[in-house]
Amino acid sequence: MFSYQSAEDLLNDKVILITGAGTGIGRVAALTYARHGATVILLGRNIKKLEAVYDEIEQNHWPMPAIYPLNLESARDADFVRLAETIEQEFGRLDGLLHNASVLGVLKPISQYPTSEWMQIMQVNLNAVFMLTRELLPLLRQGDRASVIFTSSGVGHKGRAHWGAYSVSKFATEGLMQIIADEEDGISDVRINSVNPGGTRTAMRAAAFPGEDPDSLPTPEAIMPVYLYLMGDDSAHVSGQAFHAQVPGQPSLATCTG
Ligand code: NDP
Repeated sequence: MFSYQSAEDLLNDKVILITGAGTGIGRVAALTYARHGATVILLGRNIKKLEAVYDEIEQNHWPMPAIYPLNLESARDADFVRLAETIEQEFGRLDGLLHNASVLGVLKPISQYPTSEWMQIMQVNLNAVFMLTRELLPLLRQGDRASVIFTSSGVGHKGRAHWGAYSVSKFATEGLMQIIADEEDGISDVRINSVNPGGTRTAMRAAAFPGEDPDSLPTPEAIMPVYLYLMGDDSAHVSGQAFHAQVPGQPSLATCTG
């Protein structure tokens, strides 16, 4: 496991947007960031799930979060422009962006892979990530050493039979991360890195590996150290790197475990 001991107030006064914040790793990342002092903006397509996370943050008396309902599959340029305008009006800047939302889709050989499914996965896992990052970059540049985290996968480093569009979208995510990191280098304080969570106990993992015992996997809570490290100022000069949440010693180019 990536090892990092964070200060309790690591993220005090930071404003952080998390996509797919209603369940799984995104939910736990939102709660973890809020516990460490951040004002979190919870983005997702299911308001009830987002409200449950909101309530949990409120009950713990952590900084008041915000909810931004958005379906990344149907969202287009204008929706991301509106999101950026709303964050600018409400907060004036953005210090962190965790691209976490993704869909797995079907597991099928390419010879049988449906085009509609391919398009849907690319829309959520890649196109929305591109549009969201582009629209939020001006606000991130106004942030306090802002950090962007892309979520990768083991199959974003090494292709695997039947993982189709999901795998390709994660390879592309790594490429997008490297391109933006290179573009921001020297012109802003924004740093951009990727995290491969590795096999983690969530609904997505259970769908991909139905025969696996979930108790054999780490929980989302267990993989939070790398998410905290990359969001806080201890990683202020780290950019363009691929991290693996479950491999000790960092940064390292991820191995294929997730
Ligand atoms: P989950 O399926 O548990 O959560 C995915 C999240 O993305 C959910 O909150 C989901 O919302 C949201 N989401 C999906 N589609 C959309 C959409 N169209 N618009 C808005 N939000 C959407 O997955 P995990 O927590 O396991 O995965 C989190 C990230 O980690 C993903 O990027 C995944 O690829 C990556 N990953 C996970 C691994 C694992 O073993 N768990 C291994 C390697 C990578 P809703 O609740 O409404 O469905």
